[in-house]
Amino acid sequence: MINKKFIEEINLKGKHVLTRVDFNVPLNSELKIMDNGRISAALPTIRHIIKHGGKVILMSHLGRPLGERVESLSLKPVADELSKILGERVYFIQNCVGEVVENKINSMQNGEVILLENLRFQKAETMNEIEFCKQLGKLADVFINDAFGTLHREHASTVGVTQFVDESAIGYLIQKELQFLGSNVTNPKRPFTAILGGAKVSDKIKVIERLIDKVETLIIGGGMACTFLKAKGYKIGASILEEDSIDYANQLIRKAKEKNTDLLLPIDGVIADHFDKNAKTSIVSSEAGAPKGWFILDIGPKSTEVFCKAIQSSRTILWNGPMGAFEIDKFSRGTMKIAQSLAEATSKGAITIIGGGDSASAIKKSGLSERISHVSTGGGASLKFLEGTMLPGVNAIQQSNL
Ligand code: AMP
Repeated sequence: MINKKFIEEINLKGKHVLTRVDFNVPLNSELKIMDNGRISAALPTIRHIIKHGGKVILMSHLGRPLGERVESLSLKPVADELSKILGERVYFIQNCVGEVVENKINSMQNGEVILLENLRFQKAETMNEIEFCKQLGKLADVFINDAFGTLHREHASTVGVTQFVDESAIGYLIQKELQFLGSNVTNPKRPFTAILGGAKVSDKIKVIERLIDKVETLIIGGGMACTFLKAKGYKIGASILEEDSIDYANQLIRKAKEKNTDLLLPIDGVIADHFDKNAKTSIVSSEAGAPKGWFILDIGPKSTEVFCKAIQSSRTILWNGPMGAFEIDKFSRGTMKIAQSLAEATSKGAITIIGGGDSASAIKKSGLSERISHVSTGGGASLKFLEGTMLPGVNAIQQSNL
């Protein structure tokens, strides 16, 4: 049981509330924000602090500037967008620590909002350097973490800072993420189906190990399924393969049988003569396999049907990782059908959870996000959490409140 403080337990009136958010939004070459989902996801926490008379000091990273100021990665456009959707003035400061920041913060009124400059313009942020943590802590009485996407990182703004403030707690977004990825997975409504896809088996072994004891059905698709097909002795042509994981795939096939867990692998696939949008394609059964030089780049229609049937008869469904190379339309059909099937299952009362990353992009692309119970805002963090790993950001808050 994760026992951490929640924002509602803290008296915020008149306090400087340093709030870590995840404003790592996609920008185009004109620095226009292409998707403001991460900004709106932080609104409940920001509004709560304003309503309770706190002074809101927001901090975030954006992209990977590697410890130097990179103009195209300034958070200034985010401050403008936040101001628009919040309906309040948002002051932007071109640094995240130091005298200018401290002076501005000392003159703040209750309910005012400030956004600091990109934390990763400072090397000390990702190195969790103690002096930088102290400087951040100096800005605040209270620290709130609401950046789910960086909870698995041991950085100054997610871990170190908690040592230098009076109180620390999590915000609404993290609370919601932990609830969906936590109790709904530990204590699911049954039957429970997990769908895993994406490129690599090795990235997902720990998640598989945790889920295999909890689910009735485990579906494996995407590039990672090729290693399982190879383990079964099928031909996979030039498809993505992790030789080192073939033994593991065999063990898992055996383990699923012992535990009476339905392990569903693709029974057919879309194969292509190139990994390219202009490739020649064909549909083959997994048994027939892919010829030499060909790639399996999506699940086939029969697999889709079997997978969707399992989804429709489940009451909890967790999905992490696309069923194919969905960035290319030709190979996106399987992924999109799974997305649709999850939306339908939600309408029938199932709890549907998407673990961030590429499956979250796929659901956005399909326009069905609103029809899913929960789409996680953090790919890496959600995977770590699903593995059962204690996230450093949560641990730091717990420790600081002991
Ligand atoms: P991951 O980051 O491990 O979730 O993997 C996501 C990536 O896996 C996406 O970029 C997909 O294009 C890729 N992917 C999915 N299926 C395949 C496949 N059959 N062959 C190659 N890449 C794939």
